[in-house]
Amino acid sequence: FIPPLGQIIAGDWKSYQYLIESIRQFPSQEEFSSVIPVWLSEFIKSKPNHVQAAGQNCYKKENGAFTGETSPQMLEDLKCQWVILGHSERRTIFKETDDEIAEKAKFVLEHTKLSVIFCIGETLEEREQNKTNDIVTRQLNALKQKIGDSKDYYDRIVVAYEPVWAIGTGKTATPEQAQEVHKFIRDHFLKTEISEKCANVTRIIYGGSVTGKNCADLAKKPDIDGFLVGGASLKQEFTEICNSWQ
Ligand code: PGA
Repeated sequence: FIPPLGQIIAGDWKSYQYLIESIRQFPSQEEFSSVIPVWLSEFIKSKPNHVQAAGQNCYKKENGAFTGETSPQMLEDLKCQWVILGHSERRTIFKETDDEIAEKAKFVLEHTKLSVIFCIGETLEEREQNKTNDIVTRQLNALKQKIGDSKDYYDRIVVAYEPVWAIGTGKTATPEQAQEVHKFIRDHFLKTEISEKCANVTRIIYGGSVTGKNCADLAKKPDIDGFLVGGASLKQEFTEICNSWQ
């Protein structure tokens, strides 16, 4: 399986200091887009053209009395092309529910041109209870309930499988574990619930302690179409990760 749109390597800089200088060194390739979520327009002004910008979250309204929230239209005004929704830190620390995240995705897809990196993944407890497939299905079904099966919308969605136990812990899923879940998402959700075409073209990226050391083995797996990288995206090794598919 070769994803026709190319791999996506996304860096999640969270709320750390942004290393504007380092983005100038990202390799320029046609096959992938690097997605760096920042709020700072400064970043967007400094970035090279082959790096695209993403918000790390947004609200489900264009404007109004919502102190502290950022609308997707504000992200568009800043010239972002992407927004990350449903990151596990949003789900756990900020208590965002499946329903709320899916509603945000719906609003973004209906009212803006932004694409969505839709994050899903199970906790350690859920994995130990063999509930991984149920959890990712539940999270994706919440999305389907809101947006249906419209091709136009799924064309703008990248699914990020990020097992919660692997995020920021140094415990990466093995390439086999990640491949198993990615394949499940492709065959048992995208193909059966949406369409065969959608299963073929939707990129499913992996996140959770991706490093310069483990990226090459993960990249070899047929259903892994890119990475969402936290810690390592702040370091020099991000360049190595960007080159995983070479
Ligand atoms: P990590 O973070 O690469 O540091 O595990 C991944 C993420 O937060 O998306």
